Amino acid sequence: MSGLIEKLKSTHDLTDAELLEFLGSPQPEDLLFAAADAERRRQYGDAVYLRGLIEFTNYCKNNCYYCGIRAGNPHAERYRLTDDEILACCKEGYALGYRTFVLQGGEDPYYTDDRICALVSAIAAQHPDCRITLSIGEKSRESYQRYYDAGARRYLLRHETADPAHYRKLHPDSMSLENRKRCLFDLREIGYQVGSGFMIGSPYQTHECIVEDIRFLQRLQPDMIGVGPYITHRETPFAEMPSGDLHFSLKIIAMLRLLFPKALIPATTAFGSLHPQGREKALRAGANVMMPNLSPTAVRKLYDLYENKICTGEAAAQCSGCLAQRIRSAGYRAVSDPGDSLAYREKTAKSGTDR
Ligand code: SAH
Repeated sequence: MSGLIEKLKSTHDLTDAELLEFLGSPQPEDLLFAAADAERRRQYGDAVYLRGLIEFTNYCKNNCYYCGIRAGNPHAERYRLTDDEILACCKEGYALGYRTFVLQGGEDPYYTDDRICALVSAIAAQHPDCRITLSIGEKSRESYQRYYDAGARRYLLRHETADPAHYRKLHPDSMSLENRKRCLFDLREIGYQVGSGFMIGSPYQTHECIVEDIRFLQRLQPDMIGVGPYITHRETPFAEMPSGDLHFSLKIIAMLRLLFPKALIPATTAFGSLHPQGREKALRAGANVMMPNLSPTAVRKLYDLYENKICTGEAAAQCSGCLAQRIRSAGYRAVSDPGDSLAYREKTAKSGTDR
């Protein structure tokens, strides 16, 4: 059993059959997490990078079957932050030491490319030493280029599942896996640091789907890999489906750390929502990024992707203190630094370019 962990440690890859065996059989958690932690420390030391997350709109034109803010949920109370509110979030985040801001939202047609570019330029002008990350879904290559030219340098877009049949079970016909993959490769080519990933335990996911996810990520070579347990939301077509499993999700984090030693891997909010110490456990299993919420407290509950989402009652400063304490208790160190991926650092060191 530990033979697979040994092979993962030394070769950072497994065959399809070995991956299926790894996923399907119990693994000694202590051995696996120790291996993942050692790899993470070899690559990134004990640093945990922070990204201030601003959930700036919950309007969405899409209808993903798993998501609470899907267009088809009439009970979702919708909101948008104004540019001034968003800039105030960044200012507060900057004072708390964050040097990356993530603007995440539904696919909201109100935010035309002109509006997004104006927003990105304004943040870049006020915080030239910070990285601006967008996470606003599928766009044309031209749009992605415009955001980049305005100053955005990172983009988060989980592929959600790389298995075409599974993708069809999670999304309506108006959406396509082909387009999502096209977006990710466009982003990569433009020069963004790219984050992709998938939910763990989403309805109809099999171990074979996860093998597909890994092969896709190996082709894409993203800078960041974001995964988290699927959590049921009662106002979706998947209301009766069970949430993902914490221990299986932690095993996936550790596996990803060993398969992708240089990747940034966040201890996502979904881990914390499934278990009070879920994010600390994810850190100890190989994760090295956290995304404290900077959204104004008044709207936090409304960015309701799934049930029991944590950190919806606190203010930004409280989240910051709470997170710093959690990171310390897990045995790591929160750093105030843009936290580029190692792959990106190596690339820019070679070419002499940055930002
Ligand atoms: N509109 C953007 C942002 C989506 S929300 C985009 O398309 O990329 C960010 C992530 O939350 C999604 O990519 C999805 O993986 C995750 N998510 C959505 N619903 C979820 C649920 N019920 N449980 C767990 N994660 C969920």
